[in-house]
Formats: sequence, structure tokens, C-alpha cells
Amino acid sequence: MQINANSLSLQAVNFQMMKVFARKHALNTLLAQKKEESFQLGLVPTMGALHQGHLSLIQSALKDNDCVVVSIFVNPTQFNNASDLNHYPRTLEADIKKLKTLSSPNIMVYAPEAEDIYGTTISKQSFNFDGLEHQMEGKFRPGHFDGVGTVVQRLFEIVQPNNAYFGEKDFQQLAIIRKLVELTKFPVKIVGCPISREKNGLAMSSRNVRLTDIEQTHAAKIFSVLKTTKEKFGTEDATKIKEWVDQQFENDPILTLEYFEISNELTLEPIDEKQDKMKYRAFIAVYVREVRLIDNIALN
Ligand code: AMP
Repeated sequence: MQINANSLSLQAVNFQMMKVFARKHALNTLLAQKKEESFQLGLVPTMGALHQGHLSLIQSALKDNDCVVVSIFVNPTQFNNASDLNHYPRTLEADIKKLKTLSSPNIMVYAPEAEDIYGTTISKQSFNFDGLEHQMEGKFRPGHFDGVGTVVQRLFEIVQPNNAYFGEKDFQQLAIIRKLVELTKFPVKIVGCPISREKNGLAMSSRNVRLTDIEQTHAAKIFSVLKTTKEKFGTEDATKIKEWVDQQFENDPILTLEYFEISNELTLEPIDEKQDKMKYRAFIAVYVREVRLIDNIALN
């Protein structure tokens, strides 16, 4: 059976026993029947092309909640690069099969078209996230976090979850969502989840399917550099470590370093002087030929 969000009717489609909704009204009708006083609802927002990283978030959500909504929506307003948006994998049918492997009757999929989220005009709101949005991804993907903030706010309004799950893989995004909740006072608890990695250390990502086997093997260098950064952080200063990281990518035939930062985990500002009791994290963005990957690691 070929399915896409367009082919889903107003009502839930029972695809291999998984409830899949294209319309918020149908989703809400079912959720309204379930909601009673102690009912806990979890939300896991995704852009699909699901992998074990996404499934680990969903498993956490299933532990904490009576029911989990997994949204699958490639959000156009968070892409600042048309080619990246066009190449983003869309694999709803395979995604639903992966969700089935979790063998839970408590998962619902919300896989809308843009109109269900945005109405007839697809636009993004402008946010002030206290400067978090100007660092790293914000510098290299202008407007990205306005798009993220807009869609996550819409999803919170539509689904009204008690708990929402986000991966530390996108650590800056997680910090920004926490800030969004602080600013809007939306009554949802944000749960951060650890990064799932391939055996070679490469952080799992929907974009990895665009890599050849050789590129995947080569891309393991990203995590290996982060691990060495962590070792060096105890004894070397940040400037020296940054120089060392630059050197690791200088003559690489496949990988191009976009940025590497050591930053304060709370403000995301690049480290100045290492301060006691402050938490630091290293962040990296690397192109594997055309494909842009990000990763990060806690340093202390
Ligand atoms: P995406 O579909 O890329 O928008 O990701 C949806 C959610 O899954 C986000 O909260 C991501 O941070 C999270 N996620 C993506 N990859 C991983 C991973 N390798 N480990 C843990 N969480 C992840």
C-alpha cells in the first residue's frame, strides 16, 4: 500500500494497526476521548526518515506516558537551503513499519501536509531566544530557529502534550525549545534524550542515508575528533584545541569543517576563560561532500 499524507483521509488510517492521522481535527477527536484527569500524553516531533535515534526518544516517551504522538513533518520553514529541503528523505511508509517494531498500541502518528499546520500561508514567526539563536547553527542557517520555534509552538498547540521529547543530538535546538517554553509558559515538560550512535560512533541522522558506505566510514572521524577534544579539554586551552581540530580537517578529501566551537552549555556562548562549576560542550558541523552533519559532546 502506497501512502502519503495526502492519501490519508480525515479519519485515522489504520496502517498495519498503527493509527496515522493527516489532520489535527481527527487526531484531536481521538485524543479528547482518551484524556481524563491522570492521562499523560507525550509528543515526539520528527521530520521522519526514522532511525534508532528517533525510536529511542519514542521508547522514553512510551515509558513516561499513556499515549505518544509521533509527528512526522518535514517543516519547510526551518530550511534555509532549498536543495537541502528537496533532498530531505520522505519515507512515511517505512517510518510506520519501524514504529510497528516497537509493538505498542499507544503510538499515534500525526503526518500532516503543511496546510494542516500553517493554514494557507506558510510563514515563520520571529523569536528572541535570549541570544541562543545567534550561535552556531543560527550563524550558518539564518532563520532556522525561527522555523523550528514556529513549528514546535504549533505542534504544542495542536497536540497539547504533557511531555515532549527532543534529542541532545540537536543540543542547540533543545536549549531553544526549553527557552521557548520558558517564554511562552506553555505547560509542557521538555525531556532531553541522549545521542544514539552507529557502531563507529557516527551520530545517527536521517541525512546519513545520503552517504555512501565509504562516506559513512569516513564520517566516523567527526565523533573521534569530539572524543579527543574531551580528553584534551582537561589539560589544553580552547584556542589550542580549536587549532588542532582545524588541522584534522585541513586536507581531508571528503570532509569539510564548517564550524567547531567549545561553548558554555547554558548560554551556548563560545568559551572565554574556563570557569569552575560551568558545564562546557563541544559542537561541530561538517560537510561530508554535499551532506551537512552536526554533532556535539559534553566536555565536563
Ligand atoms: P529530526 O527528525 O532530525 O528533526 O529529529 C527529531 C528528533 O530526534 C529531534 O529531537 C532530534 O534531536 C532527535 N534525534 C535525531 N537524531 C538523533 C540521535 N542520533 N540521537 C538522539 N536523538 C536524535
